[in-house]
Amino acid sequence: MSRVAVVVRQHGGVEALKHERLDDVSPGPGEVEVEVSHVALNHLDLWVRRGVPGHDFHLPRIPGSDVAGRVGGRRVVLHPSWGCGSCSRCITGMQDRCSEFRIRGENSDGGCVTRLVVPAWHCLDVPDHLSDAEAAALPLTLLTAWHMLVGRAALRRGERVLVQAGGSGVGVMAIQIARLWGAEVHATASTPERRERVAGLGAVPHAYDDPGLRGQFDVVVECVGQASWRSSVSALAWGGRLVCCGATSGSKVEINLQALFFKQLSLLGSTMGSSGEMEQAWAEVRAGRIRPVVDRVLPMSRIREAHGLLERREVFGKLVLSMDLGVDDVV
Ligand SMILES: [Zn+2]
Repeated sequence: MSRVAVVVRQHGGVEALKHERLDDVSPGPGEVEVEVSHVALNHLDLWVRRGVPGHDFHLPRIPGSDVAGRVGGRRVVLHPSWGCGSCSRCITGMQDRCSEFRIRGENSDGGCVTRLVVPAWHCLDVPDHLSDAEAAALPLTLLTAWHMLVGRAALRRGERVLVQAGGSGVGVMAIQIARLWGAEVHATASTPERRERVAGLGAVPHAYDDPGLRGQFDVVVECVGQASWRSSVSALAWGGRLVCCGATSGSKVEINLQALFFKQLSLLGSTMGSSGEMEQAWAEVRAGRIRPVVDRVLPMSRIREAHGLLERREVFGKLVLSMDLGVDDVV
């Protein structure tokens, strides 16, 4: 039985997302075969499709970092990243700093495929209160936001947190994690409708250009980059920490060093997180203390349209694709 996948062979527009038949794979020792049911879309999928100057994605690549499916009768989601497992950083629990760190769907093939083989430990059990689509909406942004706030910013109870782009995939997770940590959470969003939804997650909503944000926050969560950088830095209180995991609007920014040293600010970079952090964060999901935010579910056959929606920022939380490839159309 062959498999069907979405494959990127050349970077480009949405037409670069091709449906293809692939040879079958079978699990080796310590591995399991996952029948994929849902895959969530991330900004990373846009970078894999478009390409990033100076970065080699080693095409062809099957995209898809967030995968839910079945192993036998068991409902699972997959760890979105892992290290080599044997270097000093991996054995001390810092897989995200391993020189062979892998992210599913970026530098390792992802989940936009009917079946895939993974190491058995990559599987996390899905609790009964979540659907497959909801489970798929979690791993990458959950781990990213967890590592930003818990691992990098070392958030403390009672601190004030500003989440920029509160309606983004990372944003909806960061709001919930910061609240779980006992912080007072504020979030920016672009439209009154999105601000209302951000408020529904428990954050005080603001427009991006709200002058009342200046100097107010112990921690600022930043994934937008260029477009929000100035307001993010100015929102920091004395001794504040800005933690950045992305630059969806562009990566060139200016830093006023006087503000940096006078206000004793910390600028923290963050990417993904360790496998242990993923297990910790997933325990909060299992306990029902972190909830997925699914904007909509589309069939995989409409993945091109899905990319367009994410590019135009028309998604609140996560867009999830169900594993329906329109197999009859595949050549
Ligand atoms: Zn390693």
